Amino acid sequence: MNGTIQASRHAIKALPKVELHAHLHGSIKQQTLQRLLAERRPSDDRLADVSFDLFHIDSIRDLDKCFVYFELVYLLVEDEQTVQQITQEVLRDFYEDGVRYLELRTTPKANERTGLTKDSYLQTLERAIEWAKEALPDMQVYLLLSVNRARLTSAEDARKDVDELLDLAIKHRSLVVGVDICGNPAKGDLSLVLPLLRSRLYDDARYHHLKLTVHTAEMANTDTENAAILELNPQRLGHVCFLSDAHSELVAREGRAIELCPTSNKVAMDLTTMEDHHFGYYYKERRHPAISICTDDTGLFSTTLTDELQHLAQAFDLTLDDIWSLQQSAFKSSFAPPEARQRLGERFFFRPLSDVCGGCGGENNAGDERGVAEGCEGERGG
Ligand SMILES: [Zn+2]
Repeated sequence: MNGTIQASRHAIKALPKVELHAHLHGSIKQQTLQRLLAERRPSDDRLADVSFDLFHIDSIRDLDKCFVYFELVYLLVEDEQTVQQITQEVLRDFYEDGVRYLELRTTPKANERTGLTKDSYLQTLERAIEWAKEALPDMQVYLLLSVNRARLTSAEDARKDVDELLDLAIKHRSLVVGVDICGNPAKGDLSLVLPLLRSRLYDDARYHHLKLTVHTAEMANTDTENAAILELNPQRLGHVCFLSDAHSELVAREGRAIELCPTSNKVAMDLTTMEDHHFGYYYKERRHPAISICTDDTGLFSTTLTDELQHLAQAFDLTLDDIWSLQQSAFKSSFAPPEARQRLGERFFFRPLSDVCGGCGGENNAGDERGVAEGCEGERGG
């Protein structure tokens, strides 16, 4: 077994991978957004002043700009046909990167102009995922429905939003496995929604199958809010960029499942090098057992899951064994229902690296273009 060689990009790409934190709209390729913008601009005055420059990663250096970007994306994806197109494209992108278990998150959208309703939006996603079963074999996709905290301005809004979301989750229960709280961390009041989710998800039997993940500590100086989130004890925590030492210690000691998104976190934390990413604390220092490495927004950050894992491999000298153990721990933290968990586990994620590496055991890891990828493909077919 190749225990000392840093995992190569090629070998990482060839592994079956688990993606637990990916926003649908943030995962649309920038080329696709540019094409949509060029097509729509002549007939849509709202797009007249939208600049291509805003879609350039170089210009996106802080969270505020990220949320401006999302507002523009929403203007371009307003009808069923476009929703289906972009979803299929996003699914294909993850598939081609080697993702075999995907939890895609989205806030259900409605649009009066195009007749899109939140329910028809989810039906459209269902059609795209149905398409993927044939077109992209061996990839399992589930949905997480996101509460956008920025829209929560009153207790009544929050109750309406959460109840509507949970109704949709029940209606589409074959696909929806969990709920997420997302949105601009500088906006909205989480104290409006956390107790509601506690009473619905934990105390109401209709919702017991739904799991919860919360975007946590995306900004500095949010200790009170972070304490309330940790107190709620969601099944997973997203990002955990700015947790206090005491909260980080708690998360590490209790082994709570965390979703780390290296490039996105680097932007949010204004890090100059990936070596300063808190992955070092959780994985290297504390041997945290429940880390998933994720992309957040492959389109916005022009990245892939392979890229994110490679950044960490380079910064923290990870072997292919390390990368594989991260896929296995991510899978354990997934919200997959029992039957799918067993099936996919036996097929991919419960197996040792030597099995999924086609018997090369990572020997081809050094970067031979014909290496692990081809070997693995041969062995994964069963
Ligand atoms: Zn996110």
